[in-house]
Amino acid sequence: MSRPTLESLPLDVSYNILSYLYAGTRNSSHPYLALSAVCKNLNGLVETYSSHILTTRLVNTSGPVPIARPTARQRLLRHVWCHCEFCGKKTTRRATMANLLACCKVCDKQEWDEKITMTDAMKRYHLKKQDLFASRIRTGQYYGVNGMTTLFLEPEVRELATRIHVGVGNDIEPFLADRISKSLERKAARERTRLAKRNHLHRALIANGLTQPPTLINNLVHFLEPGRDRRPAMPVLEIVRMKLLQQRLQTEVGH
Ligand SMILES: [Zn+2]
Repeated sequence: MSRPTLESLPLDVSYNILSYLYAGTRNSSHPYLALSAVCKNLNGLVETYSSHILTTRLVNTSGPVPIARPTARQRLLRHVWCHCEFCGKKTTRRATMANLLACCKVCDKQEWDEKITMTDAMKRYHLKKQDLFASRIRTGQYYGVNGMTTLFLEPEVRELATRIHVGVGNDIEPFLADRISKSLERKAARERTRLAKRNHLHRALIANGLTQPPTLINNLVHFLEPGRDRRPAMPVLEIVRMKLLQQRLQTEVGH
């Protein structure tokens, strides 16, 4: 009688042995892989055992659980949530002025083409922040490179400005034109003062023997205005004194 081998064992005994190897070992290769690589017979044994386990233990014999068909409402909402409301294109974007509405960038521009930023609304219509927010006109928010920007619709801002500045039913244009001309006048007056100061400095430099204008005056003229580092504007005579001191120091160092 020949010696029994693993292959000659009855099937239930072989399956019993394989069941102990099911959990694998600590080696990197699973015993089933190693056994299959030995010979065709063992490969066949591992295959039939694996198939037996899959059908009897791992697969739910009652069959797959059917997924409930989504209701029409669910399907519609899913569609609405990820398709542009206006052109129907797929998008995950929301409309700037209506944060729950799916809307692509192109349609957003078309549908709400008169959006203005809060800064522009305040400047162009001479409104305060509290005017804009207390009025309950529509706002939108947009996240750009500079962080969050608040947007308004220009016709609504114009209507609000009309109500505040000239009263409902009146034309706001003359008011705005007047504000613009006043602002231009102020700008021109500032420019005249700047030129006068510059000329004064020029004359004072020459009177004190500092004669390298216009290069010198161009270098010194910014002292007439307050600096960005909160340095206050310097009076003309102070600038001349500073320059004279600097000149004296230079000549002393030179000697
Ligand atoms: Zn669209």
